[in-house]
Amino acid sequence: MIVKKEPEQFQNYLSDASNYKGFADSVYIPENEPEIIELLKKFNEQKTKVTIAGNGTGLTGARVPEGGVVISLEKLNRIINLSRKEKFVIVQPAVILKDLQDFVEAENLLYPPDPTERNCFIGATVATNASGARSFKYGPTRNYVVGLRIFLPAGEIISIERGKYFANGLKGHLITAPGKEILFTLPDYYMPHTKNAAGYFCRANMDLIDLFIGSEGTLGVITEVKLKLLDLPKSLLSSIAFFKSEENALDFIDEARSISIRASNNQSRSPSHLNASALEFFDQKALNFLRPDFQNIPGKSEAAVWFEQDYNDNDDSIITNWINLLKKYNCDEDSVWLAINKNEREKFHEFRHAVSWKVNEFIAQRNFKKIGTDVAVPAQNFRQFYSWIKKKIELENLDYVAYGHFGDCHPHLNMLPKDEFEYQKAKQIYAEICAEAVRLKGTISAEHGIGKLKRESLLKMHGEENIRKMAALKLIFDPNKILNIGNIFNENFLERV
Ligand SMILES: Cc1cc2nc3c(=O)[nH]c(=O)nc-3n(C[C@H](O)[C@H](O)[C@H](O)COP(=O)(O)OP(=O)(O)OC[C@H]3O[C@@H](n4cnc5c(N)ncnc54)[C@H](O)[C@@H]3O)c2cc1C
Repeated sequence: MIVKKEPEQFQNYLSDASNYKGFADSVYIPENEPEIIELLKKFNEQKTKVTIAGNGTGLTGARVPEGGVVISLEKLNRIINLSRKEKFVIVQPAVILKDLQDFVEAENLLYPPDPTERNCFIGATVATNASGARSFKYGPTRNYVVGLRIFLPAGEIISIERGKYFANGLKGHLITAPGKEILFTLPDYYMPHTKNAAGYFCRANMDLIDLFIGSEGTLGVITEVKLKLLDLPKSLLSSIAFFKSEENALDFIDEARSISIRASNNQSRSPSHLNASALEFFDQKALNFLRPDFQNIPGKSEAAVWFEQDYNDNDDSIITNWINLLKKYNCDEDSVWLAINKNEREKFHEFRHAVSWKVNEFIAQRNFKKIGTDVAVPAQNFRQFYSWIKKKIELENLDYVAYGHFGDCHPHLNMLPKDEFEYQKAKQIYAEICAEAVRLKGTISAEHGIGKLKRESLLKMHGEENIRKMAALKLIFDPNKILNIGNIFNENFLERV
């Protein structure tokens, strides 16, 4: 096991892509499960805080320690087993998402969750219930997790398979590897019907594996993940279309969303055979932000949509029908980029990744913390909500870029403050946007989770009483209060239960 004790050796474990910065005494890099258990037992007895590090691409400070030690799982990076026949793969937590996607694709299989940042660890994507462009059709990471091996802080092990352990109403019951019973009560707060990664997943009679997915490492350390796979579709259409106006692009998305949801729900093909797997939006400011690196962006375009559709036959009418739908919203054929091979599809992915990446770079260069929305609202409220947010930011004269998973009504509006005054203003607007999303029965975090940066917003979303119930639940699994302290709710809540 590698142990880093000198601060200059471990600075890169003290922040993440949000630019939130923390502190720790040392960093441990175990090589196997017995070493993880040994560390957990030791720190549990000493009541030393332990923060679990993934690959540090998180956007909420979730892996950033606020004291104690860091345990990085980076050495547990093996793909353990793939079954082509039963369509599953078992991996250690530090397998990189992109490597897993390529590995299963070579076996003609698909692992659908595709966060824009693919340099993240699978264990962390489970801990945050990450999702991405394809979640529009295929849903978040949760939908593909069928088994987990979890180490509790005292060193006990829970092995849980989907479909085996259910809550009885709100009462949960699990048995650890040494045979210890764990009894707990699930909070019963409202969970939005949008994409959601805000706080513990809790529902009466739920499958108890879902409690750990999205729990941001606060209940246990994930050391093994079993994932469901799908057959790799035979064809994939990927396109970026540039529009003359934002209204045109948003109208196009609205119609494409309705057609695709109908097609997926009916399990039958729409008359046009259209059924998008991804519908991603870029506003004019996002395009301007990208222009220095992508000089072929058509000059007069005011918005763009990146969409994908996978299908299993050689039905060329799909391309024609997409072009017809684009034309209906004033998008000319010569403003449409079509990827004809994997290489070009990767470039489109890079286009989408670049905008998120450049925003993080902008924020880090000015030494602020990221102020980007991760809100989602029900589809019927989305257009009004989106224009309300934009007007609000523009009224305050703040610079911003807007892009994101508009198929899922999930906009990333990132404010770009130039100085401390603007930064404070942006924080105030951010809080108001979250409050409005909650009022519209949406969520304050659809995919990034809460970490340490969004705790205040979660408190407003669920209220103090429910946060106290979450803290009580955590204490059942972590009575000595050592694991990922400060994620989801403030440490004070662990005292007040
Ligand atoms: C440019 C960019 C684009 C992004 N786009 C998306 C996107 O489209 N969708 C999306 O969902 N996210 C996105 N993200 C955020 C990020 O990639 C995800 O949150 C990802 O899941 C984090 O993985 P990581 O390995 O970097 O984890 P880290 O940031 O290191 O950790 C994240 C959390 O997981 C916990 N954790 C890690 N491993 C374990 C484990 N084995 N057991 C228990 N807890 C663990 C950590 O303690 C921490 O709480 C983006 C980030 C960037 C920089």
